[in-house]
Amino acid sequence: MEKLAPFRLRPWFSPRVWGTWDMQPWYDYVPVDEPIGEAWLTGDDAVVDSGPLAGQNFSRVFANHRADLLGPGSEHAARFPLLMKVLFPQDKLSVQVHPDDSMARERGEPHGKTECWYALDAKPGAEVALGLQPGTTQSDVQAAIASNTLENLLRWVPVHKGDMIFVDAGTVHAIGPGVTLLETQQNSDMTYRLYDYGRPRELHLQDGMKAVKLKTQAGKVEPRAKGSGSLLIQSSYFRVDRFEFPAANSPQNFASRTDGDAPSGKVQLIFAASGSGAIQSGGEAPLHLQRGQLAIIPACVSDWSITPAEPLEILRAIPQ
Ligand SMILES: [Zn+2]
Repeated sequence: MEKLAPFRLRPWFSPRVWGTWDMQPWYDYVPVDEPIGEAWLTGDDAVVDSGPLAGQNFSRVFANHRADLLGPGSEHAARFPLLMKVLFPQDKLSVQVHPDDSMARERGEPHGKTECWYALDAKPGAEVALGLQPGTTQSDVQAAIASNTLENLLRWVPVHKGDMIFVDAGTVHAIGPGVTLLETQQNSDMTYRLYDYGRPRELHLQDGMKAVKLKTQAGKVEPRAKGSGSLLIQSSYFRVDRFEFPAANSPQNFASRTDGDAPSGKVQLIFAASGSGAIQSGGEAPLHLQRGQLAIIPACVSDWSITPAEPLEILRAIPQ
């Protein structure tokens, strides 16, 4: 079978009651019946829209090319390690918690869900909830859920464009309106809804309370200069870097970034947060990437570059 080359995935738009009718400037897509809450950049149903695999679901690509995608030794990986989405909340999302790896495994799932959010944009006053006020007990949480006052026990944090926020499994969390977030997470859909501000959606209190940790590591993470970019976050499950190329430019070679910055042998997820450019590897045709799109650089591709067509901002996620 031919070696896998970099390819692009077409975003898949998921309606949500808390979503938006207007995803500009990231997407031209206009919702018809329901607002869009999430643009899924990866996931089993994402569809390749470039190269010889065009039209195939990502799940099929993963099943047929695990070792090329993830590197040697991953022939039996249960699923692609990361999931990336763009979130467009126009209303408060419910208060949720995700299980950690050990609780997930008790439930027969391969792993839990630790995630991070990069603020692509934020309106003044935008906030997220990250964990509980110090001193909160399990019974405080249960009583506050029963009396529809859980928001008062949460630690609300202002969000500004460019913030990176870590949300480890077990953190009680919520997202407020007015932010556009790039979410990178362990590829799991285990979510327990603890509280919905008195709205009538179903809650998952028994599992949710078991998943809740009173203290976690959640919070904003300061960027660190790393090579020609910024390391935004490095956790046990993912790292995310940001690169900014000021203008149309010569090819930026990612293989030459040898300052500990070019992890070879790992899959790289490349999201264009603004601008556009073309990814080049080996003798392949250039892979065009524009704002809102995601390209997968398989682990087997050791040498690749991106040529900005205009000022370009890239977020790169790599599983750890
Ligand atoms: Zn979450």
